[in-house]
Amino acid sequence: MIEKFLNPWIRELVPYSSARSEFSGVADVFLDANESWESYRPNLNRYPDPKARALRLEIEKRLGFSFSMTGIGNGSDEIIDLLIRMFASPHEDSIMIERPTYGTYSVFARTQDVAVIDVPLTKDLDLDVISMEKIIEEKEPKLTFICSPNNPTGRVYSIEKIERLAALEKGIIVVDEAYADFSENFCSAYSLIGKHENIVVLRTLSKAYGAAGARIGMLIGSEEVIKVFEKTKPPYNVSLLSEEAGLGALRDEHVKKRIEDVRKRRKEFSSFLESLDYVREVFPSEANFVLFRTSDAKSLYAYLLGKGIVVRDRSSEPMLENTIRVTIGSQEEMERLKKEMRGYGK
Ligand SMILES: *Cc1c(COP(=O)(O)O)cnc(C)c1O
Repeated sequence: MIEKFLNPWIRELVPYSSARSEFSGVADVFLDANESWESYRPNLNRYPDPKARALRLEIEKRLGFSFSMTGIGNGSDEIIDLLIRMFASPHEDSIMIERPTYGTYSVFARTQDVAVIDVPLTKDLDLDVISMEKIIEEKEPKLTFICSPNNPTGRVYSIEKIERLAALEKGIIVVDEAYADFSENFCSAYSLIGKHENIVVLRTLSKAYGAAGARIGMLIGSEEVIKVFEKTKPPYNVSLLSEEAGLGALRDEHVKKRIEDVRKRRKEFSSFLESLDYVREVFPSEANFVLFRTSDAKSLYAYLLGKGIVVRDRSSEPMLENTIRVTIGSQEEMERLKKEMRGYGK
């Protein structure tokens, strides 16, 4: 079913055939890929596995996403870029995003001259699914990006709403679940892929798994989507070092505890914010950050920076005048932030 949404040149693309992917069988002398025979570090002289099989097997084992339904990107960012390349024609097609949301969707679309249709969230920062359905019917954006929990609002959208958009079968629905691990009772769109082939899910090891430096993003979708992704992506997009780091992050026993800590501190910090007289509104969050509205975001931002603390001013986003987004850090970092915030305006 996704066939009809693909760019025609991608449908017909003959993938680059790398030395490593052409070889199958048993051998112990590799003179096929113009590599060095040695390196200062074991295996570094060899090109990495284009299919990142070890990592995908570990993902299947630990996270439950089926091997054949998973593709790996150099961060989710690369996957977002590639999805637009696969489905949207430059100068012709569009993508749809909610606003406010993560900024890279629209930047990657613009680098390919793909138009961006912004749909403002409702007053309570929920998806405006009625407007989105209308736009899908009328303008048929090739891709709709839905970020849940949303960055920077922290809000999770109902799976029923996401399914309604997919059920129209007019384009691809990309559900970016980068912050899913921090949400309690989260219902992943992964469960809908079997029913709606036009849904794909993004996950990352950059947040809860503590491996932002490794650049490991996951695309989860039907086998058909994964096959097209595999032939469109650069053959060696995941480095050997990244794959190793990703395996380590997936096996890291501290992840569970860290997620619990984030949830606990997010609650504590939200109550702390409620107690401050210059804080006007604290947005409920299911992610590892809290967004709040303050009397004067610019001044609070500058004040905290003066104390050596960097937060994110989100005031330039529609509906988010005078808002600051704070990542949940270690206990010590949060104590230091709270201490400085108590002193603000005094
Ligand atoms: C941080 C973040 C990501 C992760 O991107 P990576 O390239 O995997 O580091 C993806 N989506 C959203 C909404 C994010 O905030």
